[in-house]
Amino acid sequence: MKKLVIALDGPAGAGKSTIAKAVAEKIGYAYIDTGAMYRAVTWKFVQTGHAYEDEFIGELSEKMVIEFQPRDGVNHVFADGVEITNFIRTPEISKLVSPLSAIARVRVAMVAQQRRMGEKGGVILDGRDIGTVVFPNADLKIFLTATADERAQRRYKELIANGMKVDFEQVKADLVQRDYQDSHRPVSPLKQADDAILLDSTGMHIEEVRDAIIKMIGEKEK
Ligand code: C5P
Repeated sequence: MKKLVIALDGPAGAGKSTIAKAVAEKIGYAYIDTGAMYRAVTWKFVQTGHAYEDEFIGELSEKMVIEFQPRDGVNHVFADGVEITNFIRTPEISKLVSPLSAIARVRVAMVAQQRRMGEKGGVILDGRDIGTVVFPNADLKIFLTATADERAQRRYKELIANGMKVDFEQVKADLVQRDYQDSHRPVSPLKQADDAILLDSTGMHIEEVRDAIIKMIGEKEK
């Protein structure tokens, strides 16, 4: 069977990583969470305590080795050999990741790593620019979305479940702000590719979205 490259893009909180992980597990594909890569660079930068400078962050991103290890239903993330899975989804990192991922040099470094990870196929990548920039010739492109309210609800529940004290209205405001920044940056903005299939997951269960995507993959694999 053909080993496809699948691009799953969309705004924050649309459920991309949950869905991509579920699809990958079910069909035996690798899953690459590209948002986690930009979060990893952000985490590393915060660790340095250095002033915010594009050149410094760009250089840092070029030297970083980011790896994923799926285990026990969790996509473990490593930066230069250090596990950072639980440190990269805090509100602090979420706020900083958007401006940081707009730095051209950071994007060049991450896109190169993503292409290397995905070039052999049998892979699903989730992000903002997978179908437009990273793999413009992907075999299947899906743009996953949901209303801002539903996306904020999902993100809120996730943060609460992880023991964080957050306010719903603040979570929603941060999410809307991040989408605005991601959609309006000059390099690789969040945008539906012309040939991507739009999937609105508002009111849908994870399993329904997962199965809809698996069906699309089945059609393409033939
Ligand atoms: O997917 P996630 O919400 O974890 O992504 C975090 C941030 O990383 C996004 O808000 C965006 O700024 C950036 N990102 C990006 N390009 C990607 C994936 C994520 O710029 N392909």
